[in-house]
Amino acid sequence: MSQSIPAAKIYNDLCTLADAGFDTWVKRAHNLYNQFQNISNISLESFLSLSKPSMKRKLKSAFQKAYDKSWLQQLNDSESPPKLRTYKTFKDKFCFENYLYVPDTKARTALARFRTSSYNLEIEIGRHHKPEPIPIPDRLCKECSEVEDEVHRLLQCKRFKALREPLIGKCKLINDNFSNMKTPDQFNFIMTSSNRSLLNVVGNFLSKAPNSE
Ligand SMILES: [Zn+2]
Repeated sequence: MSQSIPAAKIYNDLCTLADAGFDTWVKRAHNLYNQFQNISNISLESFLSLSKPSMKRKLKSAFQKAYDKSWLQQLNDSESPPKLRTYKTFKDKFCFENYLYVPDTKARTALARFRTSSYNLEIEIGRHHKPEPIPIPDRLCKECSEVEDEVHRLLQCKRFKALREPLIGKCKLINDNFSNMKTPDQFNFIMTSSNRSLLNVVGNFLSKAPNSE
């Protein structure tokens, strides 16, 4: 840009102020550009040669990737709340989840509570026990005397064997190998499924399986 253009003079003055530590829009634009360059690996020259729609797409995709990465890092951070212990075993991407399409409100709510460890299982109730939390190995299902966590409720608890049958039947229909999977893999298969028909059945099971004694 020619120095004789007033806009160029103003821009250069703002650059000088930014270099001196003042918070100007030029400084914020530079910060944004530096962040973008760190995550996109594209030179300024190549970026400026793009059409406006391509620039927009490139920016959106670069910042989305950066956000997804930082979101996943925070989720898997060892300091993250214990409440997320199960959630992080099946949630690995920041995205809209198909369970939100489950039409029945009770089923959808049960799915949301179950996914976020707000389903009143002993594993969670024991965490809030006063004056001290109950040790994890002692947070037992009253029926089976095994730790009552999400895997136990969804796939193992004897109390819900009959209620669970349609769910297991649906899983076998969708995946021929379901019966051969180990329990944690079956749990992961169900919790990461985007199959709406399966999600309806899971939601139905969770809304009918009593979630507190
Ligand atoms: Zn049980």
